[in-house]
Amino acid sequence: MTSAARTDASPPEEFQAVGGTLERALIWVFIVVPTLALLPGIFFAWGGWIGWSDVVVLIVFYLITTTGIGAGYHRCFTHGSFKCRRGLKIALAIAGSMALEGPVIRWVADHRKHHKFSDREGDPHSPWRYGTSAWAVTKGFVFAHAGWVLWGKDRADPKHYAPDLLNDRDLAAISRHFRVLAVISLLAPAIIGGLWDRSWHGAATGFFWGTLVRVALMHHVTFSINSICHVSGKKPFTARDRSGNVWWLAILSQGESWHNLHHADPTCARHGVLKGQIDINAWLIKQFERFGWAYDVRWPDPERLEKKRTAVT
Ligand SMILES: [Zn+2]
Ligand SMILES: [Zn+2]
Repeated sequence: MTSAARTDASPPEEFQAVGGTLERALIWVFIVVPTLALLPGIFFAWGGWIGWSDVVVLIVFYLITTTGIGAGYHRCFTHGSFKCRRGLKIALAIAGSMALEGPVIRWVADHRKHHKFSDREGDPHSPWRYGTSAWAVTKGFVFAHAGWVLWGKDRADPKHYAPDLLNDRDLAAISRHFRVLAVISLLAPAIIGGLWDRSWHGAATGFFWGTLVRVALMHHVTFSINSICHVSGKKPFTARDRSGNVWWLAILSQGESWHNLHHADPTCARHGVLKGQIDINAWLIKQFERFGWAYDVRWPDPERLEKKRTAVT
């Protein structure tokens, strides 16, 4: 649909709960293909089909997109745990878009709905939606991990859940340009790899590691917050759902897997609040604050947290 043909009654696809047929088909491709690439990836790594440029591109794109999702989409835009100056806001929204997890407005709407109904009816991705038997939780786990994006029916209407973002001209524009950013994210690693190595081989390995493997890793780490962190992990804080803190995902998720604290105190800018809990996104927000790019940061309030503590340590 062209922008000229749009009316108020038919907002662009990026502003609706789910996209059209083509977009839904592409989501299958972008979730399934990178996942399938992981296995041969390990094989190729043993075979020497990986160079320094691939490692650097993989790590840099992973860090940029994980920061965009965790610090940007999640802590800033969904929960308002800090405010950003315009430059940082735009940078985080673009970085998050490059994670290929959907336009910022739709992501935020779904996640706000998740918090509103967490692990109850209406939650877009609870592993407990089918019940508590082993088979029900197995089915629920697959649904919470990726099924909800592929065939879920409880997606959130951005008009209802993210009107503040729809009214933000920068975030609305970045949401509208999601497809362009997705293409850049898919092709940039190949271009960088090709230029670095001055060969088609460099472009191919750049695409393999910097795009396919990076997207698969990034997707499954994010998906694991919705699946693994809602069926397992310690619960040192009182939340009204089944969210848990999963320590072994803390580094890869940049602190997002301290999910029990997050559900207990959703606007807190730091999720890893207990001793020894590494939270890279909180560290980054601290740096943003130091540079004056972030302000009104909601750092943990010890008194408030104490009241939410359970007997579990
Ligand atoms: Zn959750
Ligand atoms: Zn959240």
